[in-house]
Amino acid sequence: MSTTTFSHEFNYETFKGKVSFPTGIFIDGQFSAGSDNTTIDVINPSTGKVVTSIAEGTAKDVDRAAAAAKRAFETSWGLKIPGARRGELLYKLADLIEQHSDELAALEALDNGKTFNLAKGLDLGMSVGTIRYYGGWADKIHGQVIETHEGNLSYTRHEPIGVVGQIIPWNFPLLMMAWKIGPALATGNCIVLKPSEFTPLTALRVCSLINEAGFPPGVVNVVTGYGEIAGRAISEHLGIDKVAFTGSTLVGRKVMEAAARSNLKNVTLELGGKSPNIVFNDADLDLAINWSSHGIYFNHGQCCCASSRIFVQSGIYDEFLKRFTAKSQTLKLGDPFGSDSHQGPQVSQIQFDRIMGYINSGKEQGAKVHLGGERHGTEGYWIQPTIFTDARPDMRIVQEEIFGPVCVIIKFENEEDVLRQANDSLYGLAAAVFTKDITRGIQFAHSLHAGTAWINCTNSLYPNVPFGGFKQSGIGRELGEYALNNYTNVKAVQVNLGVRI
Ligand code: NAD
Repeated sequence: MSTTTFSHEFNYETFKGKVSFPTGIFIDGQFSAGSDNTTIDVINPSTGKVVTSIAEGTAKDVDRAAAAAKRAFETSWGLKIPGARRGELLYKLADLIEQHSDELAALEALDNGKTFNLAKGLDLGMSVGTIRYYGGWADKIHGQVIETHEGNLSYTRHEPIGVVGQIIPWNFPLLMMAWKIGPALATGNCIVLKPSEFTPLTALRVCSLINEAGFPPGVVNVVTGYGEIAGRAISEHLGIDKVAFTGSTLVGRKVMEAAARSNLKNVTLELGGKSPNIVFNDADLDLAINWSSHGIYFNHGQCCCASSRIFVQSGIYDEFLKRFTAKSQTLKLGDPFGSDSHQGPQVSQIQFDRIMGYINSGKEQGAKVHLGGERHGTEGYWIQPTIFTDARPDMRIVQEEIFGPVCVIIKFENEEDVLRQANDSLYGLAAAVFTKDITRGIQFAHSLHAGTAWINCTNSLYPNVPFGGFKQSGIGRELGEYALNNYTNVKAVQVNLGVRI
């Protein structure tokens, strides 16, 4: 078994200090090299330069991790220990993550390119909140007693599923890990988790905190690696009873196919989106502009629920466009560690090329670039905040998820017109409506085909409020009490109280 150490000296106004921790494939509480002894380079998106390399996990490593998880499930986790103990360990982990917030936020800024301030305020705050929230649930998992007749006692048990595979993306690396491990551990499952190959650092750092918190070895295993190799091995593994995936709709489909082909494992999917953001003539314009800007530019547009289609009613269209553009121009693109930076680079060369490809398609298909539309700077993967106008509904920039700081502003006339356009999408993750007419706001919230409908805000998330998609945006719900359903099997038990036949 060989262990490598990641070590990096940060020297910024927002964070100074040396960060050092072991890395590798994390199985049974120990780090090791991958079975093939190969590695993956980790790139700093601000510069395009290699920061470190991490172990490349293979199908053999997933095998080892699944076996460790099964052992832990049968001996030291699941129903072998009281829920209250699982809760204590989750609270302890939340405390440790909180104590290491600065260090984890710095890793996120280095690895993902999001600003340190965003990582510290949002990613860390919500990760800690989510793990604590599920710590609170761990001793409250229970079934029902069901009345039938006097000769029968029927009740249900919500049993853990067993070994669960979890595959997560790069846009909120630590937060997505928290959303996944919180409910899975609270309900008593053991985990084989694969972080994105683009952003593995915080997941690896948390492995040591999992040990420090006192989780039994094998309860959480982390296999770093490529999606087509390690991710696929998780999806088709016969010893993994469930797979929870967050990522693109394209890959979600592959995960579901692999699950169906192998052991028909339980699947939950959190996928992409193309969320509509509807601003009516009567909206509070300041409020609508600030939230709409947050809606698209938050996390550099790399947000599954980004409000990338902004529909504005004709009476305020010109004023909205003018002021929204001015607001977009105030966003400072700069070093993620700068205290006044709003926007860092996109995560990778691949994403940079993908987003620029969409910008070019918008231009070629005849939409007008109202703002931006170019790269920012000469190194790394920065893209200017970009606004398109004069787009047609069939254009790729209107239909497809861009996952960058690029929005389309579309003029509409009336409710019927905008509802039809807003729902004209194969996605259904989230939607927002801005109006002072609360009746209209609620009617729209009910009519929009989306798993989340925001009225007078957007991209607002809480650990106790469920989140997930309609249509091709996903299956199942993360967060809240609803996420617990993803991780339990319901067993019905019937006791005969003396009835003879
Ligand atoms: P992606 O689908 O490319 O990758 C996601 C994960 O899947 C990564 O860990 C990757 O290695 C792995 N993977 C890739 N190919 C695989 C395969 N064949 N089998 C198994 N695993 C495989 O997505 P991404 O680029 O990392 O993330 C961006 C996407 O994620 C966007 O579409 C975004 O909307 C979506 N997303 C959705 C939510 C949500 O809650 N709905 C949250 C965050 C991101």
